[in-house]
Amino acid sequence: MSKNRFQALAEIMNRRAQFALPPSSKVSDYFGANVFFTYKMREYLTEGIYDKLLDCIERGVRIDRSVADHVAAAMKEWAMSKGATHYTHWFQPLTGSTAEKHDSFFKPLGDGRAMEKFEGSMLVQQEPDASSFPSGGIRNTFEARGYTLWDPTSPAFIVGNTLCVPTIFISYTGHALDYKMPLIKALHAVDTAATAVCQYFDKDVIKVNTTLGWEQEYFLIDQALYKARPDIAMTGRALFGARPAKDQQLEDHYFGSIPERVVGFMKEFELEAHLLGIPVTTRHNEVAPNQFEVAPMFEEANLANDHNQLLMDILEKTARKHNFRILLHEKPFEGINGSGKHNNWALSTNTGVNLLKPGKNPKTNLQFLTFFINTVAAIFENADVLRASIATVGNDHRLGASEAPPAIMSCFLGLQLNSMLDNLEQNIKAGKMTPEDKTDLKLNIGKLPQVLLDNTDRNRTSPFAFTGNKFEFRAVGSSANCANAMIVLSTIVANRLKQFRQDVDDRIESGDDKDEAILKELQRLIKNSKAIRFEGNGYGDDWVKEAARRGLSNQKNTPEALKVWKDKAVNKMFEEMNVLTKEEIHARYEIEIDKYWHRREIEARVCTDIAQNFIIPATVAYQAKLVDNVSGLHSVLPVGEAKEASRTQLMLIRSISEKINAISDIIIEMTKEREKAGKLNSEKKAEHYCHKIKPLMDNIRGLVDALEMEVEDELWPLPKMREILFTR
Ligand code: ADP
Ligand code: MG
Repeated sequence: MSKNRFQALAEIMNRRAQFALPPSSKVSDYFGANVFFTYKMREYLTEGIYDKLLDCIERGVRIDRSVADHVAAAMKEWAMSKGATHYTHWFQPLTGSTAEKHDSFFKPLGDGRAMEKFEGSMLVQQEPDASSFPSGGIRNTFEARGYTLWDPTSPAFIVGNTLCVPTIFISYTGHALDYKMPLIKALHAVDTAATAVCQYFDKDVIKVNTTLGWEQEYFLIDQALYKARPDIAMTGRALFGARPAKDQQLEDHYFGSIPERVVGFMKEFELEAHLLGIPVTTRHNEVAPNQFEVAPMFEEANLANDHNQLLMDILEKTARKHNFRILLHEKPFEGINGSGKHNNWALSTNTGVNLLKPGKNPKTNLQFLTFFINTVAAIFENADVLRASIATVGNDHRLGASEAPPAIMSCFLGLQLNSMLDNLEQNIKAGKMTPEDKTDLKLNIGKLPQVLLDNTDRNRTSPFAFTGNKFEFRAVGSSANCANAMIVLSTIVANRLKQFRQDVDDRIESGDDKDEAILKELQRLIKNSKAIRFEGNGYGDDWVKEAARRGLSNQKNTPEALKVWKDKAVNKMFEEMNVLTKEEIHARYEIEIDKYWHRREIEARVCTDIAQNFIIPATVAYQAKLVDNVSGLHSVLPVGEAKEASRTQLMLIRSISEKINAISDIIIEMTKEREKAGKLNSEKKAEHYCHKIKPLMDNIRGLVDALEMEVEDELWPLPKMREILFTR
């Protein structure tokens, strides 16, 4: 039985803030205590084995069985010294959350004795019963074999009593069934392509790492209210709820003081995160009431992504301990800001250079411009795939809605860089360059660092913005696995850089010197990709028109956005970059489409249930009260007076009847449409839910929200928005 609204509100009155005690007042004393970092392995391994492990981590050299055995023994010893009793392969299936299957270290020997066992084979590979994870048809259920394979580049860690080993998840046939494997491949593709381009500038560069710093937004609501709202509990968002008189207009929540109970929650999850080596550093309120953000220091992208996945789990568990529930949905409440997960992205070399940070002299600046312009060009050439990488049912509500980046992909570069690009475009002459031409250009390029310093103009409305030393992809949804966006971004940038190297080499071959070839190629890219650059207000209607004029696409919903995965050229690019095969792309497309309509179907069913079983009965009860009142008035007053005295009541009685009839009619229509959808294939079903059924849900919501304003407060069954957003 779900809780009634007033019971829930009463429960909240007794809540107190809880504070967990950290083991020390200095975070550095316990940071990473539950992580088996590579440096810690040194204590447990001989030098020879340790070096082989480093070869594997740093250079991707295959690990042999005896090394794996030693590493496993080291892990077991370390984990047991910290009280671990179980181990698990921790992986990221395409459901979007993380999965684990715990096995005990303890193994009976059969003669009454027992021992703790964890061997190389158990570290390297496990076979979870994988038949119920989505595979998009890659893995037939009858051969329900999927394997998890150790990812030695991400360190093992302990949660509770379990040693968790980060792994990739693949099918019997070797196809990726997770986010991690293609992410690692995509990061490798960028590494290869970017290193080749770096060779033009610095021969010492042998590796380029992708760095990722995510900013996670979320809502917190009290657990009792959550339980009294089946829509939020089942779908992650409020399907109903009239807008409260006050929400975020006064902007008094943003950077305001954080409520005590929330501080207690934040301190505890930060403690958990720090023990797991997740470098979270900032916490603050967000714009909407009860909305908050947490962000770490950036890390290598694969690790950063593992950390984000882990943190989402920690947030969820810690929230419950504090009698909160966390909402990671992109748009839990209509009319106020949604939640995103900005992905700050850059590339850094083994020589310690951030390739997206303007340098100190013309040479390093030319290198910066090379990576900068190629990134912009990659976005231009592949805006649709990038859009698809962030397409989910939840994000459809956010992109283009209040205070979220639009579904139109564009890049914000800032005033200085824009004029630099314009300058390069105009001043690189066709034909052979004279030495003076080159000196002029270099002087110009050399000016960049000084001017960038005062580049304070940071457009917040752009989905893909340059922010001084990194790009910030802001359209990623708060519930997403960052890998989806990072796989696509890495692949398109790798592809672009590979092409760039080829084109520059071709120019050199036909007689240009190196700098000239690079400059001319950059000029060509600047010219071609102009349409993607936009510095104005991304939230405005003008931009929608302007973008259409420029030929940029604006795919407002997931079923449409995902279609690009069927594009032959896109498939080819992912195959050539060795990130995803055609089969894997197709499987992912199907999984995403299925997720879309499944989630809309759940919403439609919950919507019907609440309208029929909560709203209509409460409304009818109120109407009955009004009817009693009207007939009572008629029994005690003369007719004329009774009529006048019951004017408002009669109006309400009629209005209520009209609305509940309308709701019933839409429910009948929606049921029919759902039956129709049931007969369609997945793709058509998703479209049907998007274009036919979702609008009907919106109509029901409109009517229910109007009833909320008419029905007596005491009788309204669902916690109201003002209660959900302001009680804590
Ligand atoms: P904000 O965008 O909120 O103003 P900052 O610009 O300071 O904040 O940084 C936001 C995020 O960008 C942080 O998580 C930070 O770790 C990350 N970041 C900074 N430099 C890099 C980089 N080179 N690569 C990836 N992420 C970075
Ligand atoms: Mg930011």
